[in-house]
Amino acid sequence: MIRGDDRGEEYGDAYPVEVQWGRPLRMTAADLRPRIVLLPGDGIGPEIVAAARRVLEAVGEFEITEQVVGGASIDVHGTALADEVLEACRRSDAVLLGAVGGPKWDTTDPQAPRPEQGLLRLRKGLGLYANLRPVRPSPALVDASPLRDERLAGTDLLVVRELTGGIYFGDSGRDGDRAHDTCEYSVAEIERIATVAFDAARRRAAGKSRTPRVTSVDKANVLETSRLWRETVERLAGDYPEVELEHMLVDNAAMQLVSSPARFDVILTENMFGDILSDESAMLTGSLGMLPSASLGSDRPGLFEPVHGSAPDIAGRGVANPLATVLSVAMMLGHGLDRPDEAAVIEAAVDSVLQRGLRTFDLAGAGEEPVGTDEITEAVLATL
Ligand code: NAD
Repeated sequence: MIRGDDRGEEYGDAYPVEVQWGRPLRMTAADLRPRIVLLPGDGIGPEIVAAARRVLEAVGEFEITEQVVGGASIDVHGTALADEVLEACRRSDAVLLGAVGGPKWDTTDPQAPRPEQGLLRLRKGLGLYANLRPVRPSPALVDASPLRDERLAGTDLLVVRELTGGIYFGDSGRDGDRAHDTCEYSVAEIERIATVAFDAARRRAAGKSRTPRVTSVDKANVLETSRLWRETVERLAGDYPEVELEHMLVDNAAMQLVSSPARFDVILTENMFGDILSDESAMLTGSLGMLPSASLGSDRPGLFEPVHGSAPDIAGRGVANPLATVLSVAMMLGHGLDRPDEAAVIEAAVDSVLQRGLRTFDLAGAGEEPVGTDEITEAVLATL
């Protein structure tokens, strides 16, 4: 299959290909631009996605469209993700999301649409079963971390979270004054996410003189799904003899993440544990505003988004940190569009801006004058 970006110069402006992804039979250079759908969402989403769009447009040519999701979509369509928006995402090469949610749409009425339903439907609809969250505190930001420097030193980990199974997708309901949420996993679901984790561990250690390690996190002393998880991961590990596998209970993992984060390489875990542990890991960097994520399926498009939420408390004030979204653009280029060089350029620009001392308010320490969303974005653009 011809991928979105290896259709190249040897063909000049036009070359014949079979129809694929709904594109014309003969394509011009303009037709070959990767198609990106932007879903700004709610709260600070529109501000940070606008900043990320400027960075994206500065590094290459893309066919970009914007669509609504979450609360913004509920306001327009009465549902958190309209069918036509999901379809546009399916036809794209990559999707960049801001964040969804806010007090305007908070409700306990089980019948009312909720913004997060848009995200869950998007993940399910695009078959995105793997969520990757790298945590590598920028050297310029060690002071912003709540951990002491010596505890943080050497931290470079990746959380691989299963995204389409478990308790968030099991049967749930209410019966009078009782409610239930069911957690289910199949061997096939566990195998495919574990494969992502083992492959990632192998890739991260390539060319380095260290043993790759996967820490599989579960609650096997209590949950049957966790026991199936452990057995399955153990079996799959046989295919990766060079990768060290350890199992860890989730409560212990939560402790170790703050007491000795540098001991981790790849953390593999199920949906709900991953949701919680990845936010905990996020704080190691000092701010949720710094962490990107990628959600991948078996094929394109992947979904790229910052780890943080829609931060309604600071929305519309021009102070949000756009760097997690800018770094999500880098992940999109690197993991989603096979353009690692452009990804590296963006990451280097972000590092350089931080090295020079620019800080949004969430990163600024005592005595540091914070800059706004526009100012830090301009600095990244100037460095590019
Ligand atoms: P949040 O991540 O939105 O905010 C937590 C804190 O971090 C807030 O004080 C906020 O101001 C700050 N913060 C977050 N992102 C920031 C940024 N880029 N720059 C500076 N500061 C930043 O989490 P929350 O307050 O628990 O949730 C708010 C809303 O977001 C809720 O409606 C929630 O459901 C939703 N949410 C959405 C997603 C998503 O879309 N993926 C994820 C988590 C929460």
